[in-house]
Amino acid sequence: MLHFDNRLVRELPGDGDVRNHPRQVLGALWSPVMPTPVVAPCLLAHSREMAQELGLDEHELSSPAWVAALAGNALLPGMTAYATCYGGHQFGSWARQLGDGRAIFLGETVNRAGQRFELQLKGAGPTPYSRHADGRAVLRSSIREFLCSEAMHYLGVPTTRALSLVTTGEAVVRDMFYDGNPVEEPGAVVCRVAPSFIRFGHFELPAARGDAVLLRQLVDFTIARDFPEMMAASEVERLWRWFVEICERTARLMVHWMRVGFVHGVMNTDNMSILGLTIDYGPYGWVDDFDPGWTPNTTDAAGRRYCFGRQPEIARWNLERLAEALAQIAPEPGALALGFERYDECYNAGFRETFAAKFGFVAWREPDAVLIEDGFTLLHGAEVDMTSFFRRLALVDIEAPELATLRDAFYRAELFARHEADLTAWLARWASRMRSDNESEESRVARMNAANPRYVLRNYLAQQAIDRAEQGDPAMIHELLDVLRHPYTEQAGRESFAALRPEWARHKAGCSMLSCSS
Ligand code: AMP
Ligand code: MG
Repeated sequence: MLHFDNRLVRELPGDGDVRNHPRQVLGALWSPVMPTPVVAPCLLAHSREMAQELGLDEHELSSPAWVAALAGNALLPGMTAYATCYGGHQFGSWARQLGDGRAIFLGETVNRAGQRFELQLKGAGPTPYSRHADGRAVLRSSIREFLCSEAMHYLGVPTTRALSLVTTGEAVVRDMFYDGNPVEEPGAVVCRVAPSFIRFGHFELPAARGDAVLLRQLVDFTIARDFPEMMAASEVERLWRWFVEICERTARLMVHWMRVGFVHGVMNTDNMSILGLTIDYGPYGWVDDFDPGWTPNTTDAAGRRYCFGRQPEIARWNLERLAEALAQIAPEPGALALGFERYDECYNAGFRETFAAKFGFVAWREPDAVLIEDGFTLLHGAEVDMTSFFRRLALVDIEAPELATLRDAFYRAELFARHEADLTAWLARWASRMRSDNESEESRVARMNAANPRYVLRNYLAQQAIDRAEQGDPAMIHELLDVLRHPYTEQAGRESFAALRPEWARHKAGCSMLSCSS
């Protein structure tokens, strides 16, 4: 039994219209809406750690009453169902009202330690914000969200979590590549969990509509509920100090994404969490060969706005849009600019610290920038697998460095051969830099392995789990979840989960190309 305390609906203005039809919602931040029941809910997977954190017994979670709730077929005592209203900048342009088109909250639960979590069903049917879409989600994208959000958590990357993955027994029609080929796919519902699902876009919409009262209410609520430590600041300073905090958190998040090789794929402002969490797992991807220009999202292929290397810059652009919204009610609008200064400082400091650890240095020194840049250029030019490279680098003997130690991280023999001399020279420079630290091998390897995961949710692995689940066998979902619980630890017998992307997956849908259709 969980305890619910639904502050958002209690403290923020809601929509008076209780009918479930698509509409513009003015003067309110949420709309009451019930999930649409499904015919045959079946619990395919769950996160036992997330259940534990909530204070939910695993047996209870798999009981018919809970599975019904997790599928959107019933509300349990204390739950309340609603969808929230937000807007956003999509691919650089203002997109007006968006909102929770297929996410329905079940309320806010508070665990024994007093921690608050919002529960949210993704794919539980239409809401007033669904526009022309169906409010549903397909199994493939639900598996991807379920697995990746848990994997990110274990990697130490701030993220929303996933409690459960339920199949609905109903089909959902999707035209995966928007090319006139709609097909029926199995439907699913993920129950997501986060202290707050509030996005930048929640603030942008009332600001764009000139509704300063509503914007003020949302800001006050968010600070009071999600940033209580900010309440200590004077009323004049509180807003910009809070914005600085958001900038710092976002900068730290970007450092993490760059560290682990995660590409979000749709960094629209409606997909940016006010808490600095990774949110909305859609056409995301993991960098295989190190390519700063790579984007997993087919919609983004032409512009590459959301490619790997541009993520820190785009996050900052998104923060600028948030600042514009907040400026409308800021007592000291000029002070918001401090946020960008802190963003740059925080990102640069975080990048140095993190990449110093990834490359093995005890601490960053100024000339390391050149060594690292040269390293990146070679990794890109020689098509080297990012995850595998950093893990193998820790195995190189710094007294007698040999490129052969890194050989398995290369995708193409001809590129290895072409860059062999340059790579060997670079490795010698790196080894000499390493020797200057005078550190024991043990502590160096420990530091490198703590910054460089051995296992990430490689795109093709997620796709294999999806293919098997669609055939009726969910075993690989469970196995992946288990492997990814310990991403930094070598797991005997599980080497295949760290294997480089196989050649068949290089251009395969779901493995390197993903669409927003989900
Ligand atoms: P996304 O690009 O997935 O972050 O979604 C952008 C907007 O489209 C959000 O407002 C979503 O709620 C909405 N949306 C995406 N897919 C659906 C769907 N199947 N039904 C209703 N709304 C959707
Ligand atoms: Mg979204």
